Order: sequence, then structure tokens, then C-alpha cells
Amino acid sequence: MNTVKLGQRNTRQREILQQIFAQAPGPLGVKRLLDLAQAEIGKIGIATVYRTVRLLEESKEIRPVTLPDGEIQWESSDRGHHHHFVCRACTTVTDFAGCPVHVHTDSLPQGFCVESHELTLVGLCSKCSAPASSKAPARKGKR
Ligand SMILES: [Zn+2]
Ligand SMILES: [Zn+2]
Repeated sequence: MNTVKLGQRNTRQREILQQIFAQAPGPLGVKRLLDLAQAEIGKIGIATVYRTVRLLEESKEIRPVTLPDGEIQWESSDRGHHHHFVCRACTTVTDFAGCPVHVHTDSLPQGFCVESHELTLVGLCSKCSAPASSKAPARKGKR
């Protein structure tokens, strides 16, 4: 099969996405990936981003993260056990280190065995929780 050129192009896109994932402060969705990839190499389409994400997921370099609203984003597989913080205002997802979940085995029904858990914190990021530079503008349409 003569797929050398295609393979090389894929490699470049793959490298860019690998780099983006390595530097990301948290999981990334397809739209954000597209923005970041376009900033790196200009011409790249959403279909290519999807395809490259699928390749990276198949090779277990990235893993999917399901957010509370059901959206799926991806993150590097080499990040250890951690959880996520979702900003409800700007929807940015950020990793936070460490794990606050401690389950005492005696609080479980007898014979139960925990294998994994999920936890997502929801709140406001530093940008969105900062007070507005001035007082909020007067409400529009005041009666
Ligand atoms: Zn925010
Ligand atoms: Zn945990």
C-alpha cells in the first residue's frame, strides 16, 4: 500500500495533538483542540482533529473524560490518579492534584469492594470568580 505521504501527514498532526495534550492544564474537548491545533499549524479541520483523537485514544495515549453534563473530553493517559474542576461559568476543565476520596471499608456493605471512583468538582475558576472590575451594570429592561 502506498500510504507514506498520508502517514507522514498524520504523524505531524499527531505530534501537534500530543504536544497540546501534554501541555494542557486539564482535559480538552474537540472545539478547544481545534483552536489550539489551528494556532500551531494553521490548516487543520475538525474531521482531522476527530480522526487524530481517535488514533491517540486507540493507542491509549489519551483517555476520554466524561464531564457531568455528558460531554466527552480527552486527557493524556500518563497523568496519575486525579480529579477535575469544572468552571460552571466558562466551562473550562482543570485538573486538580490529589484525591480527597477516602472510603472506609467498614462503611460499605459486607463483601463489597471498591474498584474505582469518579469525582468532579464544580464551581468558578479564578478568572470567573474574580470580582468584576466595576460594579455590575444596571439591569437592562428595568420596569
Ligand atoms: Zn471560568
Ligand atoms: Zn480519587
